[in-house]
Order: sequence, then C-alpha cells, then structure tokens
Amino acid sequence: MVHAEQVHKSFGSIEVLKGIDLQVRAGEVCCLLGPSGSGKSTFLRCINHLEKINAGWIRVDGELIGYRERGGKLHEMREKEVAAQRRAIGMVFQRFNLFPHKTALENVTEAPLLVRREKRAEVRDRAAALLERVGLGDKLGNYPSQLSGGQQQRVAIARALAMKPKLMLFDEPTSALDPELVGEVLDVMKDLARDGMTMIVVTHEIGFAREVGDSLVFIDGGVVVESGNPREVIANPQHERTKTFLAKVL
Ligand code: ATP
Ligand code: MG
Repeated sequence: MVHAEQVHKSFGSIEVLKGIDLQVRAGEVCCLLGPSGSGKSTFLRCINHLEKINAGWIRVDGELIGYRERGGKLHEMREKEVAAQRRAIGMVFQRFNLFPHKTALENVTEAPLLVRREKRAEVRDRAAALLERVGLGDKLGNYPSQLSGGQQQRVAIARALAMKPKLMLFDEPTSALDPELVGEVLDVMKDLARDGMTMIVVTHEIGFAREVGDSLVFIDGGVVVESGNPREVIANPQHERTKTFLAKVL
C-alpha cells in the first residue's frame, strides 16, 4: 500500500531525511519511532506531499505521490492532482485542529460536503455513524470547547475517516493528551486497525506498537536504523541507538 524508496528531504542546507526506505502492506499498521528531530513528522508530511521530496519516490496504492511518469521522466503534478491524492490519505496530528466554531458533526461533514460535494443527508448519516463508532454518538452537537482532549482527538479521527481514506497517518496522536485520556484514543485506533485500515503511526506508546503494530520502524538522524516485528525489536533491539531510545521510553 505504501512504498517509499530512498526518500531525501532537505530544508535549505540541512538534510533531514537521508534516504528513507519503507514498505507497508495493505491492512497493516506500521509504527514509527525515533528521537525528537529525527524526521518522523517530516516523513509523514512527505507521504501526502505536504513536503516535496528532493530525491527518491513514494507510492501509495501503486500511485506515485506528487509526480507523474511520462517518457521515463518524472513530472511534478498540478496542485489539483496532488489534492486528489491527498484526499485519499487521512492525517491526524498531535493537536486536534478542529474548527472551533463548528460542532463535532459539522467538523466531520465539512470536507465531504465541500470537497467531495456529496449529498447532505448521506454525509450527515455517515458522519453520525462515524462519531458513534468513536464513542461520541451523544456529542454530535458539542463544540470543540465542550469536549475533552480525548474526545476532540476522536472527532479528528472521525473527520479524517469521513473522506474514506485508503491510508491513515497519525503523528503522535496522543502525546498532547492527559494520561487518562490516552487509552480512549488508542482504543479507537486499535478498532480501526482490526477493521483492516492501513496505518502509519508515529508514537511513543510502546504498548500500542507491541500490541497493534505489524511493523516497527526506528528512525534516527533521518535514516531507518532498525525495523522489524515490533515485539522482536522491542524485546531485542539490535542497534545501540535503538537500545538507548527504548530504554528511555519504556
Ligand atoms: P518530534 O519527535 O520532536 O516531533 P520529528 O522526528 O517529528 O521530531 P521533524 O519535525 O520531522 O522531527 O523535524 C526534523 C528536523 O527537520 C528538525 O531538525 C526540524 O527542525 C527540521 N525541520 C522540520 N520542518 C522544517 C521546516 N519547515 N523548515 C526547516 N526545518 C525544518
Ligand atoms: Mg514530530
């Protein structure tokens, strides 16, 4: 589903990604771990072309992201085409970024109505069902300020799902939450994983990686240092940098 090969990304003269390789099969959950500044968020942003990569390529569901192949050469896509690719990729950030003046339901219906131009009644029903699924069936009319952080993050997940993505990217979705609210968000993500959603999750929640992850990729200094089965990597890290990192977060 996701195949990245030798992805390089620089900001000015600083090379942040130095050749990332990554493969995630359909229906699998890949957990990305690594120290602060190692390039995890940058890599996620490259996957939906919020950042342009300098070398390498990324395919999602077989489609090259941000570029078209023509006559053996790569040509940059037009913004409209990129937007279409981006719609198929849901993203959930550390901060919830909900529209503050819209209710939970309106937050979820916004994009399908505006971007996909779907029928209002259909979108509304789907949004209500999604909010029900993330445990917020009784909060449809609440504004973000009337929801806890964990509830807001679950609305953000429902909002991403409303666009029927084939891939979900999560960037530390629980790290801004009070500890007692982390579980409810992880439970929603577990449920999604069980349902067969392909997911790439940047997280320091080792328990989640061990239990839900099909693969774990440890990134440091813009390269993949180590990857494999989460249970094996966590129990028996091979690389010194992985050991040091895990010792800190475990
Ligand atoms: P954290 O765990 O703290 O979220 P991270 O692994 O997500 O860290 P990134 O946010 O990807 O790290 O940042 C990697 C490096 O790239 C950092 O040194 C950061 O300062 C730099 N960087 C990220 N975005 C930009 C930008 N738009 N312009 C310049 N430098 C950037
Ligand atoms: Mg980050």
